[in-house]
Amino acid sequence: MSTLRFFAIKETLNRKPLKITEKKKRSELFGQNVYSQAKMRQTLTTSAYTSVSTAIEKGSKIDRNIADQIASAMKDWALAKGVTHYTHWFQPLTGATAEKHDAFFETIENNGAIEKFGGTQLVQQEPDASSFPNGGIRNTFEARGYTAWDPTSPAFIYGTTLCIPTVFVSYTGEALDYKTPLLRALQAVDSAAVAVCKYFDKNVKKVNASLGWEQEYFLIDSALVSSRPDIQLTGRTLLGHDSAKGQQLDDHYFGTIPNRAMSYMRDLETECMLLGIPVKTRHNEVAPNQFELAPIYEEANLAVDHNALLMDVMDKVAERHDFKVLFHEKPFKGINGSGKHNNWSLSTDTGVNLLSPGKTPMSNLQFLTFFINTIKAVNDNEELLRAAVASASNDHRLGANEAPPAIISVFIGEQLTHVLNELENVTNGKLSPQEKTDLKLNVVGKIPEILLDNTDRNRTSPFAFTGNKFEFRAVGSKANCANPMTLLNSIVAKQLIDFKIEVDVLIAKKDLKKDEAVFNVLREYIKKSKTILFEGNGYGDAWEKEAKKRGLSNNISTPEALKAKISKKAFSLYKDLGVMNETEVQARYEIELEDYIMRIQIEGRVLGDLARNHIVPTGVKYQNILIENVKGLKDIYGKEFKKLAQAQLHLIEEISRHIESINNLVTKMTEARKKSNQIKSLEDKAIAYCNTVKPLLEDIRYPCDKLELLVDDELWPLTKYRELLFTK
Ligand code: ADP
Ligand code: MG
Repeated sequence: MSTLRFFAIKETLNRKPLKITEKKKRSELFGQNVYSQAKMRQTLTTSAYTSVSTAIEKGSKIDRNIADQIASAMKDWALAKGVTHYTHWFQPLTGATAEKHDAFFETIENNGAIEKFGGTQLVQQEPDASSFPNGGIRNTFEARGYTAWDPTSPAFIYGTTLCIPTVFVSYTGEALDYKTPLLRALQAVDSAAVAVCKYFDKNVKKVNASLGWEQEYFLIDSALVSSRPDIQLTGRTLLGHDSAKGQQLDDHYFGTIPNRAMSYMRDLETECMLLGIPVKTRHNEVAPNQFELAPIYEEANLAVDHNALLMDVMDKVAERHDFKVLFHEKPFKGINGSGKHNNWSLSTDTGVNLLSPGKTPMSNLQFLTFFINTIKAVNDNEELLRAAVASASNDHRLGANEAPPAIISVFIGEQLTHVLNELENVTNGKLSPQEKTDLKLNVVGKIPEILLDNTDRNRTSPFAFTGNKFEFRAVGSKANCANPMTLLNSIVAKQLIDFKIEVDVLIAKKDLKKDEAVFNVLREYIKKSKTILFEGNGYGDAWEKEAKKRGLSNNISTPEALKAKISKKAFSLYKDLGVMNETEVQARYEIELEDYIMRIQIEGRVLGDLARNHIVPTGVKYQNILIENVKGLKDIYGKEFKKLAQAQLHLIEEISRHIESINNLVTKMTEARKKSNQIKSLEDKAIAYCNTVKPLLEDIRYPCDKLELLVDDELWPLTKYRELLFTK
């Protein structure tokens, strides 16, 4: 066995779970390292606190003087906790988080020194924008970018650094990050939803989008990962034959959490508590070594920040436990991949979840309004939803016969389907008193009861209604949630604006009562949105055919899917809502194409290297052993040897065939890459990578995996699937 593989397995077998002692209750730990509004209340003057609270709730500006006060109080709080540095913490378009630390420490005259942190440092910084992806924004505008404080997401201490969540924009105001458009989209859905809520309750002043993500991941021993260059460099295995036992027995899902993983989770959860990330649920997922972590849902911007922070914390805590976390959507062939379900809803400042049926017919009409408008928004923008979750790694999941297909559809369950069918028959125009009573009592009035036993959850649906929220399941485990959340909130905002206009027109022109007008518009929406509703098996071929008939898109690959992002419809959606201008949209499109190209390029290089420098030489080595054996047999048995060496001779030939095909395919792939690299247009280049380079990854894998089955296990250089997934 290769030394690396041998030591990796040996090291893994010798590991013991770290002892984690939890000295305090979780509720006591929660938020200790967060400069929350409650802490602001304790440490700020009343006027400073009022100013920052208004900024959080209404998005108003904080003046310089007040910023100085807040900075000073924040600094004192942080210093008392042993903090030495501060950083503006942001999410550039790489998808990861970025931070540049500065010490509070400053020298003053006469060789003295103090800790200093003023309002200016809190509110704005100027990191060099040139090394972050900008998709051409930098070419047309100035290179400098700046970060600006987002008071809606509280500052927190991470290690010995005070982290201040910020937006990251170019000097001319274009968003260079994920957070800026998200904040704009959340504002858009807030004002659109408040306007619609006024039909039902005049007291509603603010609507928040909520998000509860479910993070799936794999935990693999770090020594095993070090023995696999493909996992190290690409986050997934590019080679490796299936393990004889995988997930067939369904013995991992919800099973007992292995000791080492459990100790990792407890350590991680403690860190999360301190950081105010309200994690609540943990369990084994379907595949071996696959797990899930889910929090209590939060306001969407905060939840997005928390998920980005969580992924970072997960990596760091994993180091202590000699694990590596794999966030990739498909680290292993033949077993389940990972996703990040985005549970989403809207709720009012009066405490009402707009996607949860209420107690009265009127509140249920409000529920139906938001429910049906969301379905309509998804129906009209299904291609954009698909585009919002497109990435090279997520392509292995979507449409690859596993958790959600690449076709977007909405699942609402039998009961609500029935309600929509009834509503569809509402008379056009004015309702008779009898109709009104029937509707309110028999249709709308009964919703809460029927929902109680609405347990049929279709796990194959990419966008499912699950009782009091929609669950967008197509999001990738590696993705930053801001991207899908910006899109979802934008399309719903746009839809609600259109809805309000239509209802108001009916009220004004047709002299309809408010609820009659609402019923009438909803009825039309139900008719128009039928295309997107699907209750059946989303993985089946039958659905693919049916979806095609319905005219739904089925964009299997990222380059295909991304195109929708720069459609006229997308440009005007974002522009009308003030979420992004054309430059910002175009920039994101280009960055994502570039990311796609680079990922496949790296995978191609790594696989070429592995195949030629690891697999082929191993094949040759084993072949030589066989040749020696055959020669020996010939020496002993003379002419008779052939009968005795049949299997060996056959193996020798088979190995040669595989080696030859590996060699040819790797050459072919290198050529395909070279040719693709010549292409000037990013779009065409991405398509070339998708159609000519990517399939070769699979083609090369095949003979390599076949060799793995033939070659002496002692010689095989790469840690095998059964070892990666089952060594404990
Ligand atoms: P599942 O069966 O999909 O695991 P759960 O009930 O465990 O469903 O919920 C999954 C996630 O949904 C959790 O993170 C939870 O906080 C979140 N969630 C629940 N209600 C809402 C809501 N109103 N808005 C957003 N997320 C929600
Ligand atoms: Mg779920």
